[in-house]
Amino acid sequence: MNKLTVKDLPYAYDALEPVISKKIMELHHDKHYAGYVNNFNLALDAGKISSFNYNGAVMHEVFWENMRPAQENNLPPEGMFEDFEKFKAEFSAAAVTVEGSGWAVLWKTEAGLAVGQLEKHNLLGLNGAKPVLVLDVWEHAYYLDYLNDRKSYVENFWKIINWEVVAGRLRS
Ligand code: MN
Repeated sequence: MNKLTVKDLPYAYDALEPVISKKIMELHHDKHYAGYVNNFNLALDAGKISSFNYNGAVMHEVFWENMRPAQENNLPPEGMFEDFEKFKAEFSAAAVTVEGSGWAVLWKTEAGLAVGQLEKHNLLGLNGAKPVLVLDVWEHAYYLDYLNDRKSYVENFWKIINWEVVAGRLRS
């Protein structure tokens, strides 16, 4: 396996304010995400594959790219979901109820779209399912801005979803 590299955010650190603060993005990208990349590379130097750190790096790259600066009426392209409000409720419930650290994920599977949760960064055993929209609900992703109010963080996330990126992932 090759070493990973820390990729830049596709926007400025403060671009997601007020939904996610510059301070959180700096810590999240430069410390947490970079930590997964660096720890994966350190393990590789020692002849080991660290699935935890590899998946942590990959999931964050998927996450950075499916966000953009907040927009009014930030809605998915017409026809992406049969019932967008139903999907929104389902995805939000998945995000709010992740126990401990993890992710809400919209998967593209051979059988269609599916909403689920990931505990920590556990991407093993997904049988080819592909994450098309992810939301990090580890405390490091929101605590500085929202304290223990994960529900408000999840509600505000809908303002900053980059639907063009999500649509592209669905097509590919
Ligand atoms: Mn994170």
